[in-house]
Amino acid sequence: MERALTQTEASIEAKVSGLPALDIPELYQCVHCGLCLDQCPTYRALHIESESPRGRIHLVRAAAEGRIELNERFASHLNLCLMCRACESACPSGVQYGRIAEAAREILGPPGSPLARAVQRAAFQYLLPSPLRLRIAARLLGFYQRSGLGRLLELALPERLREMQSMMPAVPRRFFNPRSEVMPAIAKNRARVGMLSGCVMSVLFPEVNEATLRVLRLNGCDVVLPKKQLCCGALNVHNGETVTAKAMARQNIDAFLESKLDAVVVNAAGCGAAMKEYGHLLRDDPAYAEKAERFGRLVKDAGEYLFELGPRAPQRPIERVVTYQDPCHLAHGQKIRSQPRELLKAIPGIELREMNGADRCCGSAGIYNLTHPEMSQELLQEKMAAIAETSAEIVVAPNPGCMLQLRYGAKRYGPPVEVLHLMDLLDRAYDANQGFSLR
Ligand code: SF4
Ligand code: SF4
Repeated sequence: MERALTQTEASIEAKVSGLPALDIPELYQCVHCGLCLDQCPTYRALHIESESPRGRIHLVRAAAEGRIELNERFASHLNLCLMCRACESACPSGVQYGRIAEAAREILGPPGSPLARAVQRAAFQYLLPSPLRLRIAARLLGFYQRSGLGRLLELALPERLREMQSMMPAVPRRFFNPRSEVMPAIAKNRARVGMLSGCVMSVLFPEVNEATLRVLRLNGCDVVLPKKQLCCGALNVHNGETVTAKAMARQNIDAFLESKLDAVVVNAAGCGAAMKEYGHLLRDDPAYAEKAERFGRLVKDAGEYLFELGPRAPQRPIERVVTYQDPCHLAHGQKIRSQPRELLKAIPGIELREMNGADRCCGSAGIYNLTHPEMSQELLQEKMAAIAETSAEIVVAPNPGCMLQLRYGAKRYGPPVEVLHLMDLLDRAYDANQGFSLR
C-alpha cells in the first residue's frame, strides 16, 4: 500500500514540483470529519464530494504532493467555490480554507475562457489599482447605460452577455468625492480614524460612503481619507492575482500608517476581511511583514468599530420591518455577527426579524455571479425566498457585492424589498439628532 507523505515530505514535494505557493501548513489540518459539508453552498446544491470543502482540500493536497495534475477539472472544482468561508465557521479543527483556496488560485489564475481570463487580468492589473482609470471606465459605462445604447444592442447580444448586462447596476452620475483629506468630528472628539473609500463603493455607492463619513463624524471621529489609498485588492487575491494585490496592499499600508490613526474603518465586508489579512499576504516581504500585521490590527469593519466606540443613540424612529443578511466576509471572514444587529436594534421603531440562513451566501461572491451565473442565481433565489418569509421591508447587508446581488434579486425574483447598508440606516436615524444639517 502506498504510504501517505508526512507534512515535511509533502512540503519538500510541493517545492520540488514547482508549486511553492502550495507549501502551506493549512493543508494538513483537515481531519476529514465532514462537519463543514452541510454549510457549503456548492455541496448542498450538488452533493458531490469534490464540490465540498473537504473534497477541495483533498484535491489541493494531492496537487501539492504531485499526485494529480493541475488540469481543467481540478480548476473547475476550485473555481466553483464561492470563497464564502462558511466552511471555516463550521470547522472544529480551525482549518483556514480561504488560505488554501487562495494559494491554489494563485497558481490557477482567473477562471473562465481565455478571453474571460484576459479581460479579468486587465481589470485586476490595470483598472482596480488605478482610481483614475476606474472612474473613467465607470463614466463610460454610465454614459452607455444612459444613452440607451444598451437597450438598442440588447437584441444583438448573445444571451450570456444580455444576462450580464441586465445584472449591471446603474452607475450614478456622481462618485464619492470628499471635500478634504481630513474631515473633522462634528461632536466631542473621541478618535482619529482612517476610512477606506474603496473601488466599488466609491463609484457605485457614493451615498453609502457619505453616510459612513457622517455617522463617524457625528460619533466624534476625525476621519482621514488618504489621497494615496487604493482599492484593497480583495478581488485580486480571490482570483489569483497576488502580485498586483501585494503592490496595492503596500501602498494602502503606507498611505494609512503615515496618518497616525486609532483605526482604519472599512464599510465593505470583503475589503475589511482582506485588509485584516494583509499580514498573511505580505508575510514573505521583509520590508512589510511587520507593518502589514500592525496595519491589519488597526482595520475595523464600520459596524464593529462603531459598536466598540459606543455609538450615540439615534433618535429618529424608522418604523419598518428589517432583516439582516450576514455578508460572508463579515460573519465567516471576520466573525462579526452581533454588532451590526445590536446597532440596528438601537434604532427606534425598527423591528428586526431574522431570516433563515442569514449567513448563507447570496451568490454574489465578488465576480462569481458573472463567472458562474447558474449557481449564483440558484443561491440568490433561495436567499430571496428566505427574505420573503420574514415579510421584511428592508434588507440590511453591509457589503457592496451583497447589495448589488440582493437589489438584482428583488427586481428579478421579488419580494420588492429595499436593500440598504447598515450605515445608510444609521445615517437616516441620526438625522434628527442634529440641530444642524450634516449634508
Ligand atoms: S468557501 Fe464556501 S463554497 Fe467554498 S468550500 Fe467553503 S463553504 Fe464551500
Ligand atoms: S470541518 Fe474542517 S476538519 Fe472537518 S472536513 Fe471540514 S475542513 Fe476538514
